Order: sequence, then structure tokens, then C-alpha cells
Amino acid sequence: MASIYTMLRGLFPFVKYKLPLAKDVEFEVSRTKHMMAYWNIDCNGHVIGVSTAKCKTLTSVVESVAHEMVHVAAERMGFEDHADHDAQFLRMAADVCNSLGFDFKEF
Ligand SMILES: [Zn+2]
Repeated sequence: MASIYTMLRGLFPFVKYKLPLAKDVEFEVSRTKHMMAYWNIDCNGHVIGVSTAKCKTLTSVVESVAHEMVHVAAERMGFEDHADHDAQFLRMAADVCNSLGFDFKEF
């Protein structure tokens, strides 16, 4: 997952967000059936988790990490309501989808 993060971090538009290095992000693998992936931030920094129960393909893992990276970027930019996928989050997500070929409806 760290390698996927690093790859995406170097691609437009993520490169312009100056995201933390992968070594400074905690990655988790979960078996939850409730969500594809998740992001949160705690005293140690950003946490990105992906569910292997929901993400069955490499493509879905890459897209899920990309989605959570939009949360990381939104948090760093100070957008407070991105956890609820507010308008700013959706603008950033659309930029990511348009640039990297993800399906916005599935993102
Ligand atoms: Zn989200």
C-alpha cells in the first residue's frame, strides 16, 4: 500500500498537494465489510486503511488509496468538512479522477 501511495503521490494532481512521505503515513489492512477504505488522523499522523474484504482487485486498491489521499490533501489544506465529502472534496476528487482516469461515480 505504501508503494501505491508513493506512486500516486508523484502523479498529477497529487504532486501539487505536497502530501507527506509514505514513511510518515500509517497504512492498515482491514477485513471490514462496511467500507472499501478509510482515512483518519491521530496524534501520530495520517492513517489510511484498505479492506481486503471489499477491495478484490489491484485497481480497486489503487482507487481506494487515491480516494483516501484526497482526504489527506484536504486535511492538509485545512478543509474541515471533507470527511463528509463536501464540495471542496468533490472538486479535488473530480480533478484526481479526470487526471488519472478513475470513474468519479465509483470514486
Ligand atoms: Zn471519503
